Amino acid sequence: MDLKFPSHGYKDVFYNSIAPMLIVGTDAPHYTMLDVNNAYLFATHTRREDIIGQPVFGVFPANPGDSMSKNVERTIFSFEQAIKTKVTHTMYNYRYDIPIPGSNEFEEHYWTTSNTPVLNESNEVLYLIHSPSNVTDLYKAQEREGAAIALTKKQQLQLQSVFMQAPVGIGIFKGPDYIADLINPPLCRLYGKTEAELLGKKIFDVLPDAKGRGFEALLDNVRLTGIPYRGEELGIPMLRNDKLETVYVNFVYEPFREPDETITGVIVVATEVTELVNAKNKIEEVELRNRIAVDAVGLGTFDLDLLTNEAFTSTQFARIFGFEEALSRNNYLELFHPDDEPIRRQALKDALVTGRLFYECRIIHKDSSMHWVRAEGKVIYDDNGKPLSISGIALDITKEKKSADEQRKLISLVENSVDLMSILKMDGYNSYINEAGRKLLGFKDETEVLHRPVSELHSPEHLLQVQQEVIPSVMKTGRWSGVMIVRHLQTGENFPVYNNCFRIDDLVTGAPISIGAVMRDMRPELAAKAALADSEQMLRNITTASPAALWMSDENGHITYVNQTWVNWTGTSYEANLGSGWLQKIVEEDRIRVADKFVSDVLEKRNYEVEFRINHADGKIHWCLANGQAHYNNEGKFAGYIGSCMDITEQKMLQQQKDDFIGIASHELKTPVTTIKGYAQILEKMLQHHGLAREASMVSRMDTQLKSLTSLIADLLDVTKINSGRLQFNDREFEFNPMVNDLVEDLQRITDKHTFILHLNKTGIVFGDRERIGQVITNLITNAVKYSPGAEHIVITTAIENNEVTLCVEDYGIGIPRDKLDKVFEQFYRVSGDLQYTFPGLGLGLYISSEIIKREGGRIWVNSVEGKGSTFCFALPLVKEETDI
Ligand code: ADP
Repeated sequence: MDLKFPSHGYKDVFYNSIAPMLIVGTDAPHYTMLDVNNAYLFATHTRREDIIGQPVFGVFPANPGDSMSKNVERTIFSFEQAIKTKVTHTMYNYRYDIPIPGSNEFEEHYWTTSNTPVLNESNEVLYLIHSPSNVTDLYKAQEREGAAIALTKKQQLQLQSVFMQAPVGIGIFKGPDYIADLINPPLCRLYGKTEAELLGKKIFDVLPDAKGRGFEALLDNVRLTGIPYRGEELGIPMLRNDKLETVYVNFVYEPFREPDETITGVIVVATEVTELVNAKNKIEEVELRNRIAVDAVGLGTFDLDLLTNEAFTSTQFARIFGFEEALSRNNYLELFHPDDEPIRRQALKDALVTGRLFYECRIIHKDSSMHWVRAEGKVIYDDNGKPLSISGIALDITKEKKSADEQRKLISLVENSVDLMSILKMDGYNSYINEAGRKLLGFKDETEVLHRPVSELHSPEHLLQVQQEVIPSVMKTGRWSGVMIVRHLQTGENFPVYNNCFRIDDLVTGAPISIGAVMRDMRPELAAKAALADSEQMLRNITTASPAALWMSDENGHITYVNQTWVNWTGTSYEANLGSGWLQKIVEEDRIRVADKFVSDVLEKRNYEVEFRINHADGKIHWCLANGQAHYNNEGKFAGYIGSCMDITEQKMLQQQKDDFIGIASHELKTPVTTIKGYAQILEKMLQHHGLAREASMVSRMDTQLKSLTSLIADLLDVTKINSGRLQFNDREFEFNPMVNDLVEDLQRITDKHTFILHLNKTGIVFGDRERIGQVITNLITNAVKYSPGAEHIVITTAIENNEVTLCVEDYGIGIPRDKLDKVFEQFYRVSGDLQYTFPGLGLGLYISSEIIKREGGRIWVNSVEGKGSTFCFALPLVKEETDI
């Protein structure tokens, strides 16, 4: 069938199309509406006559319900686009409200409108088909959906941005090989790789340095068990920026679960904390270094909590207090010196006001040693300004204190020294002179010291010595000492000082920085010397003028001084008498005896006394009595003798005359007395014979008197013999005990008042003069009888002691005072006392006895108690011990 669509048919199609269409002319800006179809009129609630020939925007303003609508502009833009591009231009989803019929209200409508150009053969735009379609419902639905989508999208974007921009590294690693599925820039940075280098790769292939460090096992564990793992400050060696470094991370491994809950990988969230760890390490290092430094200088640290009053202390702090390790606060507090405890307490109180703690106190360690401690601290406050704690340091300053103390002592020593002490700078000015020095040189005060050059302290000629001798010597050798002349600043007096000066060098550079000087005023010394010289001269005059010779020896007995008197006596020079020269002037027979005695007394350091004869300068022989007094030096050491020597020639002559007289007299007396005695005995016998008993007894008494006269004469003769060295001895060996026995028996007859008790112990043979020894025993026994008138017994004992034969006579008589014991053996000595005068005697018996015993090589001595009795003993060398037959 040949169907031919009629030309008017197009009109029908246009008018009846369900798509609303409006034909608009291209006459901008009017865009006159040329035709319209029914669907359009229906959709816009308009009538054809209102439209045809009208400009489009006159009928359809922007949007009747929205004055702000840009619909007109959009439509014009769309028309222009369609005309220009000659293809359909679509305006999507714009709002254009439609009036609700029968009211002034509008209904919200959304449209998507196409503007299609209709072209002629010449391809020119004839008009536009403006075809809106109502998309209100669609739009509304779309709008709701869009909002939801937008929200998701937004969230997704946000997530993405969070993920990508998160300051922590996040990555998802899939499968057992941990292939990087997702990885954000921070994690890339952490790994030191680009996203491209990591994505889709096995992580341990890309980061070989992290392999074999246990991370695989950790990841496996999370992937297989689903238990997350958290790691802190883990060091991972990593090649970053071509540099292998240890990267520290805090990280969490979380299982990555699929929607069906299966775990297919691990989410890694990692934060790099390298800088933090390094900083922390650095802080620790600095802290350690500080602590070492603090410890090294001996600083102890403390932190006192003001709320609990407890303190945290360092080990060094404890050591300062003598403990091995830190202890609680009370242990420290109890060590404070009681005198310093208030200082510590006050310092603490002050600290709460000033914010600063400071004190120096003494503490006493457990071992009783005393130490000085300095504590310094700072108060720490809370936000409200309330003091919380005091942190600080403590230091043992014992040494410092001691040296300060030493210094103080030194300064006071220097200041109080009687000698001048000064420090001279290299510029010729003194920087210091002590008080004694300022006085010595006439400085008014300390400031004057600083301003007077040293040159003013010497007269020009004496300054020369200082400049040419003293200073160069100090500079060269380090010191100079000697006498120099200084000038008093006020009086101008020049006077000598003994100066000890020394160079003071810089401790560091060694260069000389000053000269120290210690000076002593020599004037007093010189004055004393002068005085001494004067007194020495005086002494010399005295000793020279002395009538006695004076002498001195050293500790070895060498004569070191004799006075002029001795020099005059001997007619020798002073020097000739020194040493042992003095002996030469002693007569030859006496010389050895005198020398021996002197030597033995020097050895024993005994006081010395000896008589000798010298060949006097007057050509005669003079008798001298020399005395030496042992003297000791300041340290108490024997230093020799100081002695004198008297000329006793005259006394000797007198004594000799006396001895001669006694000798002659007794000798002359002896013969007539013996004769008288003989006649008296004959006369007694004759009278008895003639029965004249009374007369006979008178003559007998005369005989007794004659006996004592004889014995007196005998004693006198003995003494003269002893004194002139003429006492004869007839030595031979004899048995001691029998001799004693005979003698005692004989003597018993002379007394009927006393009984002799004889203890003859074993003795032996003695070599000596039997008669003379007997004379001694007789003397001792008769004395015992004489001086014990009230006693009945006298005990005579013999014995051997130390190879000596001894004999003792003990009486119970008047005794002898202790201080007289030594004297009884002297010539003519008699103990003076009330009792003694009643006993006759000359005081010769013991003298003669002691001389005899001495000459026989023995000893004689006495023990006595006054009023109780005496025991006289002697000892003689034993030749042979008695045998026991
Ligand atoms: P005299 O002739 O005086 O007895 P001696 O030489 O024998 O001289 O004695 C000296 C002095 O010693 C005596 O005068 C006497 O004072 C004292 N004397 C001697 N023997 C004794 C004695 N046994 N008891 C007390 N005094 C004594």
